[in-house]
Amino acid sequence: MDFNFSSEDELFRQEIRQFFKENAPADISRRWRVGVHPPARDDIRRWQRILHDRGWGAPHLPVKFGGTDWSALRKHIFMEELYNADAMDYSWQSTHMVAPVIIAFGSDWQKERFLAPILSGDEFWCQGFSEPNAGSDLAGLKTTAVLDGDEYVVNGQKIWTSDATISDWGFFLVKTDTTVKPQRGISFLLVKMDTPGITVRPIVSIEGGRGLNEVFLENVRVPKAHLVGEPGMGWTYAKYLLEKERTTSAFLYFNKRELQRAKDIAAEEMVDGVRLIDTPWFARKVADIEVDLIALEWSVLRILAEEKSERNLDAVVSALKISGSEMQQRVTQLQMDALGPRVMRFEDHAESDVEPLVDDCWPDYVGGRTSSYLITRASTIYGGAREVQKNIIAKLAFGL
Ligand SMILES: Cc1cc2nc3c(=O)[nH]c(=O)nc-3n(C[C@H](O)[C@H](O)[C@H](O)COP(=O)(O)OP(=O)(O)OC[C@H]3O[C@@H](n4cnc5c(N)ncnc54)[C@H](O)[C@@H]3O)c2cc1C
Repeated sequence: MDFNFSSEDELFRQEIRQFFKENAPADISRRWRVGVHPPARDDIRRWQRILHDRGWGAPHLPVKFGGTDWSALRKHIFMEELYNADAMDYSWQSTHMVAPVIIAFGSDWQKERFLAPILSGDEFWCQGFSEPNAGSDLAGLKTTAVLDGDEYVVNGQKIWTSDATISDWGFFLVKTDTTVKPQRGISFLLVKMDTPGITVRPIVSIEGGRGLNEVFLENVRVPKAHLVGEPGMGWTYAKYLLEKERTTSAFLYFNKRELQRAKDIAAEEMVDGVRLIDTPWFARKVADIEVDLIALEWSVLRILAEEKSERNLDAVVSALKISGSEMQQRVTQLQMDALGPRVMRFEDHAESDVEPLVDDCWPDYVGGRTSSYLITRASTIYGGAREVQKNIIAKLAFGL
């Protein structure tokens, strides 16, 4: 297998790099780097529009729906450069989760109504799957949707709904049939977030962010036309959505960028007149992580090389999720080690709109690092908890 990039791919990389350098707004990138949760609607919209105008509003989608014809490798290069430039990532729930489901299973009306505003950045989405007693055991969800004429009447509660306060729409898993096997009675419903009966209550997370939410639904009336595909097929669509981006769970771009940031910080920090990066203690820590990160990167490239293969990769994807999420925790821990007492500089989210406090004690590279360390503790939970991933590997790879 040859993982060297062709000269055409290298030219492509230069083009992307130049674009980000010239077009990523510095103020948005700073807020993104500092990790404002939830991101401002205006930031998402402004950046999505810039990408859209360039034809890159959703590169992973088919050309017919506003995407590109890039190979998996080119999409990989694009994302790597996006992260290297500290440019804001996509509103993932909108462009990468609900859009592919609507394309694959939605009605013509749904495609017409929902895809254009997602690509142009005019509408954002949140994902309403988890409930207080249905996270890993998602099939046990209790929110119901009962048909009444041309509308579903929805009752129940969702939790950990990222970005619900800034979202125009949510895609919800709801029970439309409680008499069949749990997975068979679940449907996929598109719900406007300002519909009467919806209450969104933020949960303040450990780093002070307000990106997570509880969503209460009380007699919420949703037009029948907002049901995606067939009733009772929601479980299949949700699985499709979660499997769509097979290598995303490795968090590769984040991990590479944050390891580089840790090295950059260590090149600035001094210990007894020596740069921290040059001390054997720190160099060993970097090497430990870097070796594992290179292995992770090669695993991702191997999967990308199998772009057209039909091989079932579920166990591999679970292994990537475990390594990638643990790697997030290791690279952000490394930044803490590099910063030493400066980790005490804990940037308040409300401060992020004003100029950062920068002086000898608090250089700009300190901003957001502690928040990032804290919020990445959650990465081994969301998107499928580590223990559940291990169960999947045990079953699929080892037949246990
Ligand atoms: C930062 C963050 C963002 C999130 N964003 C969203 C979102 O936008 N939309 C959304 O719908 N959800 C979201 N979630 C929810 C996330 O998907 C759930 O937290 C996750 O699925 C785990 O479910 P749970 O919290 O109910 O924990 P539980 O499922 O109750 O698990 C608790 C513990 O038990 C372990 N466990 C559970 N089952 C097993 C088992 N069978 N064998 C062994 N161990 C087990 C788990 O590994 C975990 O350690 C988010 C969560 C976080 C932390």
